[in-house]
Amino acid sequence: MKSFHIITFGCQMNEHDSERMTGILEEQGCTSSSVAENADMVILNTCSIREKAEQKFYSELGRLKKIKDERPGLKIAVAGCIAQQEGANILSRAPYVDIVFGPSDISRLPSMIERKRSWSLPVVDVAGDPDYHRKRIPTTRTDRLKAWVSIMYGCDNYCTYCVVPYLRGRERSRLPLEIVSEVRELAGKGYKEVTLLGQNVNSYGKGLEGDANFPSLLRMVDDVPAIERIRFVTSHPRDLSDGLISALRDLPKVCEFLHLPVQSGSNDVLKAMNRRYTREDYLGKIMRLREVLPSVTLTTDIIVGFPGEQERDFAMTMDFLEEVQYDGIFAFKYSKRPGTAALRHDGHLTDDIKEKRLAQVLDLQRKITSRNNEKLVDSLQEVLVDGLSKKGGTLSGRTRGNKAVNFNAPAALIGSLAMVRIIAAGMNSLTGHLCE
Ligand code: SAM
Ligand code: SF4
Repeated sequence: MKSFHIITFGCQMNEHDSERMTGILEEQGCTSSSVAENADMVILNTCSIREKAEQKFYSELGRLKKIKDERPGLKIAVAGCIAQQEGANILSRAPYVDIVFGPSDISRLPSMIERKRSWSLPVVDVAGDPDYHRKRIPTTRTDRLKAWVSIMYGCDNYCTYCVVPYLRGRERSRLPLEIVSEVRELAGKGYKEVTLLGQNVNSYGKGLEGDANFPSLLRMVDDVPAIERIRFVTSHPRDLSDGLISALRDLPKVCEFLHLPVQSGSNDVLKAMNRRYTREDYLGKIMRLREVLPSVTLTTDIIVGFPGEQERDFAMTMDFLEEVQYDGIFAFKYSKRPGTAALRHDGHLTDDIKEKRLAQVLDLQRKITSRNNEKLVDSLQEVLVDGLSKKGGTLSGRTRGNKAVNFNAPAALIGSLAMVRIIAAGMNSLTGHLCE
């Protein structure tokens, strides 16, 4: 096998897993091909967080089958969460698939390919490597400036709607020194920003010897020279500690940005979701955070139409959005997932109701986001310039609050920090003036 092409579905973790698969395969002498049509092997790195992501995968698989019908030598591999969920069952639906492997089996990819070469039967490996979190895996990143760094895998929270704990396993943290050494290496290669990845970064360190925790990890990463910015996703509100709030305030490289998924503004729904915090707990934490960091950018995730969600529960979510005034949200219709507890809850809602509630939430948030962005007009923002602009202005970049900014400046600034005065604001981006 000389060339491969990876198609990635889903979240940043999957994007990063694909960077690892690329690193592993390139180390074996293979090259990445930009299109499936020219590749010897296509890997579909799948997501099963919602039904829609699964449907997208199966339609892509159908398209690949047509290519394979014309070119039977093509190898098709299925990776990620659907691979973990379905295992060998994928083969009964798609017998033309050659390799199926789970998210913690990535490092065995070369041996799976070798097995497939010497064996006509499909290879299925979803056993999970118990030492995966202790391994340093070769990684070819797509960006030259910003890098994702996994700090932990899995999740122990068992929110009743979510498949992640079943598919990504129990929470396992990487060693702090391993993480810091990876960040140092990235700094040496010219990276300016790292985003620390985990399903619940606030509980980082659980199970490790000593007193490793997330704020102390942030301090260690903050000390790495040449890294200019540190971000992280995702924080679970229950585990958002005063220590993390202080780290956000005190550590110069940690951006004043927090993605803190609330999911619902109704205590009854939060309880049914097993989120283990109340609306009041969450608001109390946000108040403390805003007291010490008034300029913090806040975003969240919302699920509408959770089983049993009444009109009054939904009204509480709308009211919550008004109260918090988030800078942005990701909103989803509740999606039934196999094996999760919420499947067995009473009161599943029709798609029409979910669709209507989703539209209402998004409509309200559009207004809030626009208002918040307008408040930034005339402010001075530190922007990490990441490339040529696709919209107005010649260059684009991100503020510390992760808002996109377009402005006119020489291309030589790409890769550096610039001070930009904001002169106009839209819902999705800001326009600015470079301050000399
Ligand atoms: N670990 C993160 C947390 O708890 O905040 C988020 C992980 S999940 C990949 C991202 C988002 O997908 C969740 O915050 C939730 O809003 C959404 N999600 C997860 N399962 C879902 C489901 N069954 N239906 C709709 N949305 C879902
Ligand atoms: Fe899923 Fe909840 Fe874990 Fe997030 S915290 S990954 S929503 S189980």
